Amino acid sequence: MRTVSILGATGSIGQSTLDLIRRTPDAYRVVALTGGQNIAQLAGDAIAVGAEIAVTADPARLDDLRAALAGSGVEAAAGPEAIIAAAARPADWTMSAIVGAAGLPPGLEALKQGNTLALANKESLVTAGPLLLGQAAKYGATVLPVDSEHSAIFQALVGEEADTVERVIITASGGAFRDRPLDDLAHVTVAEASSHPNWDMGQRITIDSASMFNKAMELIETHEFFGIAPDRIEAIIHPESLVHALVGFTDGALMAHVGPPDMRHAIGYALHWPHRGSVPVERLDLARIGQLNFRAACPDRYPALALARRVMEQGGLAGAAFTAAKEAALDGFIAGEIGFLDMARVVEAVLDDTLSRQGLQNDTITLDSVQHTDALARRSARTWIEQKR
Ligand code: NDP
Ligand code: MG
Repeated sequence: MRTVSILGATGSIGQSTLDLIRRTPDAYRVVALTGGQNIAQLAGDAIAVGAEIAVTADPARLDDLRAALAGSGVEAAAGPEAIIAAAARPADWTMSAIVGAAGLPPGLEALKQGNTLALANKESLVTAGPLLLGQAAKYGATVLPVDSEHSAIFQALVGEEADTVERVIITASGGAFRDRPLDDLAHVTVAEASSHPNWDMGQRITIDSASMFNKAMELIETHEFFGIAPDRIEAIIHPESLVHALVGFTDGALMAHVGPPDMRHAIGYALHWPHRGSVPVERLDLARIGQLNFRAACPDRYPALALARRVMEQGGLAGAAFTAAKEAALDGFIAGEIGFLDMARVVEAVLDDTLSRQGLQNDTITLDSVQHTDALARRSARTWIEQKR
């Protein structure tokens, strides 16, 4: 029986992970589940799977969590430190599926066990790739990609030699507005940006898909995780979201990973790795699908992609500044303070501002330096947003 913990259990990825685990309850024992505001879901799931502990990120919700768990035997805890402590509890396999920069500290903690971290929290790699992978190497832990594109690349690389990889192509659906006239984009609403044509995901990543900030992060994630040079990584629009990524080799072959747009595939791959397990996703009927389309991603429509290239080339703490600025800009858009196209303007301004500070580019990446850069970038983003209002 394997022991598993799920950080961000109440979210979209967390729920899909629980769905897989609950199908074979005899195979797993659940150690920790963590969540945020969704106390009813967190407590209900923790009781249903017999978790050791349930933790909410919000200390103000501890009493609610305790009440919801009363008499169940599941321990309750709250706050960011309690999430880190939960990540330190021995587990063979930990899912890192908290959204945003908050996912980094518990992920780093889980790696100290030297076991397996299934990484959905892409912000960890974008803000602090060398720190996260360095921690894994130091403690002999394995990091497995869960983002669908990166799971696809990982699978395409099995049995291949690193020096035969010529390029990597990740696909993007183009999000909610791929066919909207460019002139309309300044005025699109939060509700419109929150619906995705193909994937059913959390609100923040869905809006990031419409703006392509999600794909921008995934370019950086590819660079960090697989160590591939920025000029060998491309993003291409693929409206059907069935080909998730392609790896091009020195002999001209392209290995494409094709699968339904269901995150349970990538989660299941990480859960069963190094074997292929049985995963209950739809089996594609290619004759019915008929055709797969690809087209170039227009740089005017998706300025986030050029910002990602800048971050990859700059290295150092640029990823931390980028992620924090993107999060602050997204908060501003969701709150109705700025328009959809302003998000990229905020991030660009923050990169200009933060990265011009002496030393920041060459600083070593530690949790402290990442958090310092994060705070600077958020402040800089807020200043931009306040001026705009
Ligand atoms: P959701 O918003 O659906 O869920 C996020 C989870 O994190 C919830 O459990 C939430 O709790 C919790 N949470 C929110 N804020 C905090 C905080 N400050 N501290 C601790 N926990 C917090 O996100 P997704 O499941 O969509 O995404 C999770 C991660 O996986 C992200 O990094 C995303 O980029 C990545 N990812 C997601 C994909 C998808 O298909 N959804 C695909 C590929 C990657 P609560 O809801 O209870 O408040
Ligand atoms: Mg993805």
